Amino acid sequence: MISLSELKTLLSTPQKIVITTHHKPDGDAMGSSLGLYAYLIQKGHHVSVITPTDYPDFLHWLPNNSDVIVYTEAVDKSLQLVDEAAIIFCLDFNTLSRINELGEHIRGTEAIKVMIDHHLEPEDFDDFRHWNINACAAAQLVYDFIVNELDDVALINKDVATCLYTGIMTDSGSFRFPSATSLVYRIAADLIDLGAEHWRIHQLVYDNASENRLRFLGHCLTNKLEIIREFNTAIISVNAQELKDYQIATGDTEGIVNYALSINGIKLAAFIIERTDKVKLSLRSTGDFPANEICKKYFDGGGHRNAAGGVSEQDLASTIEAFKAILPEYKTQLIQ
Ligand code: 5GP
Ligand code: MN
Repeated sequence: MISLSELKTLLSTPQKIVITTHHKPDGDAMGSSLGLYAYLIQKGHHVSVITPTDYPDFLHWLPNNSDVIVYTEAVDKSLQLVDEAAIIFCLDFNTLSRINELGEHIRGTEAIKVMIDHHLEPEDFDDFRHWNINACAAAQLVYDFIVNELDDVALINKDVATCLYTGIMTDSGSFRFPSATSLVYRIAADLIDLGAEHWRIHQLVYDNASENRLRFLGHCLTNKLEIIREFNTAIISVNAQELKDYQIATGDTEGIVNYALSINGIKLAAFIIERTDKVKLSLRSTGDFPANEICKKYFDGGGHRNAAGGVSEQDLASTIEAFKAILPEYKTQLIQ
């Protein structure tokens, strides 16, 4: 581990820096990464944002998006940048398995690894940690890091503010989850004062769907929604053929699980999707119900209490059955 003052000293002269974030980056992953990027380049650092995989089109408008390197599309270049980096910022994840092959490569480098994250149970791979599970988003922690640890509020320009606002907005469910505390609202207000156009960001992220996505959503709600009243649970499942029929791209399935959770009385919602290599589960819950516990115990995953995910090596039908078979174990919590 290194101290804050050692990190500050390191950051006081131009360094080669890599910022990376989790597999299939979401709004917080990209918002926190590009927010930190827009801050660090002002200090004269040579900074690269490397994502393990591609990410949704509705995030491609973010400032400096064209500078992002997608590992799977530029493996050699990514590995070279990682090898040359003096500092590697790891944002919005806390186990190296969340960044695929890049993870073990990063573990083996000499670089100072800085974790900025809000997920439970961090793995011990970092040299400096700005970690708080009460933060609604990694972007909130990047804001806190820049303002309160590095004393650089003056460097939060419009690009930084726009990216950080995007991360906070998306990970807090547009400021409606319990994690959206009064502090988060204050930070959002600061970011608006510093140049974030909240109405425009909301429009670019949420009112930017393809026609296919909307028709696919209609299909899911009409034909694929299963409600299990006995356990206050709703499931939407989709197979590979349906994804093909609707030409579903990365990000098009984002948020569909929330429709299942929006039904009166539903405490647990699952979106189960047959991807090319595996079956992926996205769980959402209300109140105290621990969606992350199910993901961790049964689906090699994890996440937050109310938003978690995991994978299954079984086929789609067996995964759905396996998920249903778990519900009786949680009956008392689901029917309260
Ligand atoms: P989503 O359902 O949107 O893919 O993921 C919701 C949350 O669950 C993410 O923010 C992340 O914390 C967690 N999550 C999703 N998939 C996985 C996974 O495969 N492994 C782990 N450990 N966490 C996951
Ligand atoms: Mn996050």
